[in-house]
Amino acid sequence: MSNPSLLILPGDGIGPEVMAEVSKIIDWFGAKRGLKFDVSEDLVGGCAYDKHGTPLHDDTMAKAQEVDAVLLGAVGGPKYDVLDFSVKPERGLLRLRKEMDLYANLRPAQCFDALADFSSLKKDVVAGLDIMIVRELTSGVYFGEPRGIFEEGNERVGINTQRYTESEIDRVARSAFELAMKRGKKLCSMEKANVMESGILWREVVTEVGKDYPEVELSHMYADAGAMQLTRWPKQFDVIVTDNLFGDLLSDLAAMLTGSLGMLPSASLGAPMENGRPKALYEPVHGSAPDIAGQGKANPIACILSFAMALRYSFDKGDEAARVEEAVNAVLADGLRTADLLGEEGVQPVSTSEMGDAIVAKL
Ligand code: ATP
Ligand code: MG
Repeated sequence: MSNPSLLILPGDGIGPEVMAEVSKIIDWFGAKRGLKFDVSEDLVGGCAYDKHGTPLHDDTMAKAQEVDAVLLGAVGGPKYDVLDFSVKPERGLLRLRKEMDLYANLRPAQCFDALADFSSLKKDVVAGLDIMIVRELTSGVYFGEPRGIFEEGNERVGINTQRYTESEIDRVARSAFELAMKRGKKLCSMEKANVMESGILWREVVTEVGKDYPEVELSHMYADAGAMQLTRWPKQFDVIVTDNLFGDLLSDLAAMLTGSLGMLPSASLGAPMENGRPKALYEPVHGSAPDIAGQGKANPIACILSFAMALRYSFDKGDEAARVEEAVNAVLADGLRTADLLGEEGVQPVSTSEMGDAIVAKL
């Protein structure tokens, strides 16, 4: 059997710096665990524009469609601000998401013990927290028609339309149930079925899909109550599935329960491929951070945890993903901090590569 394939797109700014640390981890798995990947590397964003005059070359796009998973660093930077909209670095990322049809956006909120003190919430509320928000990413009020600003009588009216088809709800619900099966087998669906027709349909379809996953305990919650419960006692949740707009709000809220931008991974999943694995793109939530690029200051953990998500959700290696997460936990417990994580006085920050090396050593 051939090795699982991975396309690495480091991108711009701190992207290549944090990705170099992920490469160390990939090498470690190949050498020590016999877990080898067919890794190819390519350009996306500003660096692709510099070479090809486009932020994503067609060959790169084709490669992304073929591999088992794509791992991306970050794109963009001030150098490219002057470019025409059609060739801006971000367009490369948008094209990947659109052509791979990545409709389920996964954002975990996970609390590492050593950082529990930094949360704005009480320590016992966040300690040990490990939840996942699944946000529908390609439909809903951000895309529904009609939309626009129209004349109505003697004033203007701004209109957006919340619109979901059964199949759009069905496919993102399936992604969420599949995740729940790989995690704590608990799924909470959030909408506003009390005031929105799309919410009524959402609840109906999710309930119907749930019949295919009898092992998963399904519950429903209004999204406003969900926001309240997320800040009151987030550990009651395992996986949450919700629409594009509510997911936008709830995933930011959940992420900030625990931490710094430098710690947050994400995944975007699409339809299952022939081998049963979903199309997948993994990336840190943070951007290219031009203010610290090239200085060895970037925190590589968000990108490393994105690779851990790939291990768990694309390659069925949940144990190895947990190994990476435990190694991260261990270096933090030892007191290692990149500059973005500094809170205590008198602690000297470590560099990007020192953090990466320390995590590899803990593996
Ligand atoms: P984008 O539009 O690409 O998301 P942005 O400017 O909104 O870019 P980031 O590039 O994520 O956001 O940077 C926001 C701030 O967080 C910056 O000050 C940056 O230095 C800091 N930051 C982001 N990622 C990291 C990281 N991995 N390690 C340390 N600091 C980071
Ligand atoms: Mg940003």
